[in-house]
Amino acid sequence: MDLASMRKHGAHSVEAICQRHGCGHEAIVNVDGWPDDMPVPDVSLKLRYFRCGGKDIKTIPDWSHRRLLMGCGDAAGRSGSRTPLK
Ligand SMILES: [Zn+2]
Repeated sequence: MDLASMRKHGAHSVEAICQRHGCGHEAIVNVDGWPDDMPVPDVSLKLRYFRCGGKDIKTIPDWSHRRLLMGCGDAAGRSGSRTPLK
């Protein structure tokens, strides 16, 4: 998945997770200004400065916005035609 398709699905940031053993540091990185054709995992190559100094970083699309929308609706989301604006 690249940033263009990620944005198309409603995510505007990636979640960066430090892979250093025993760390698990996480950060949300807004990628609105980043190239459309950049693969999501490649974002990690640009992120080198976790406070812990970890360089082994995994990046995944941040779907928190979508989770938020789903979480505040009811289970019958498929019948809803209105998209909540946040
Ligand atoms: Zn770390």
